[in-house]
Amino acid sequence: MQLNAELNLSRGSIELPVFLPVATRGFVKAVPMQKINKMEIKALISNSVHLTISPGMEIIERTGGINGYTGFNGSYFTDSGGFQILREELVKVDNEGIIFKDRKSGKAVKVTPKVSSEIQAKIKSDVAMMLDDCPPYGAEEKRFTISVRRTYEWGKTFSMLKQTGQKRFGIIQGGFEYELRKKSAELMISLEFDGFAIGGLKIGEPKELTDLVLTKTVPLIPREYPIYLMGVGDPISIVEYSELGVGIFDSTYPTRNARHGFALTNDGPVNLKNAKHSSDFGPIERGCSCETCTYYSRTKLRELYKNEDPSFQYLVTVHNLDFMQRFMEMVRNNREEARAIAKRFSKINYSEVDKEEAG
Ligand SMILES: [Zn+2]
Repeated sequence: MQLNAELNLSRGSIELPVFLPVATRGFVKAVPMQKINKMEIKALISNSVHLTISPGMEIIERTGGINGYTGFNGSYFTDSGGFQILREELVKVDNEGIIFKDRKSGKAVKVTPKVSSEIQAKIKSDVAMMLDDCPPYGAEEKRFTISVRRTYEWGKTFSMLKQTGQKRFGIIQGGFEYELRKKSAELMISLEFDGFAIGGLKIGEPKELTDLVLTKTVPLIPREYPIYLMGVGDPISIVEYSELGVGIFDSTYPTRNARHGFALTNDGPVNLKNAKHSSDFGPIERGCSCETCTYYSRTKLRELYKNEDPSFQYLVTVHNLDFMQRFMEMVRNNREEARAIAKRFSKINYSEVDKEEAG
């Protein structure tokens, strides 16, 4: 889809490219919903399988859908959970669907395309992602061929089960070989979907390979469809891939970094744990009008971190989400500036951060 297009959803339209903060079970970690609403965050991504396990469909249905349950004013995207296949110890996949096992409760849920459609209809998300089969990086060619066929079959069922007021997105698989990606793109585009995700990327492959697959796959999708790159949302990727035509991004990037003490700024990431901030009475970012920068200096924040005060997570997450909002506006309206800012993010050390479970 072209840059600066709009995605019309039942709860209003969203300007693209957009960044979706992660709200696995409906809520953004560490930030209450009234604050998310106040920040005018337009859309969140939740995981339909996690919601099935907890709080469960009965509660979601009784509150009239996910917005009634959480109190969020914006739009929800829901993931089908296919990506979880990558954590092989937790799932089993066959031609019928995926069996997910919840780590905490040990509860197993079998999700078929039909079940996934029903769950997401009950959740009443504004955009529902189809169930897909996502093999791990390094899997044999044969496995990717199976995934393309299987994802197509699942997509056929999912796309036929339409739901009023809900957009439904297909997912293009095909691994890292062009012919297979092309095949998957052709198959998925032949079905009735409202948009497409390019799946099976950023799963451990080198960046050059991600870039190559995206460069070749995006042009295969007709321009009227929004394109979603799931699980990707750092400033560099957003700038680079939105230029290729990707319109929707999501990631735990701002929230997870906040929990690890990294604040995102126009000058790049700031590690608030660093001792040099102990005598810095300025805010995280000068000129930032977020609640955190209005009331807290870096020295105060560092002190909260040191004392393991739970408000630290809230405060830094609020700033980071505010940063992402400003950054996305820049991506839409001032690409030169966005590109310059993104470059300052190339040096962040994520090794310790990446170990933590996503979501
Ligand atoms: Zn701020």
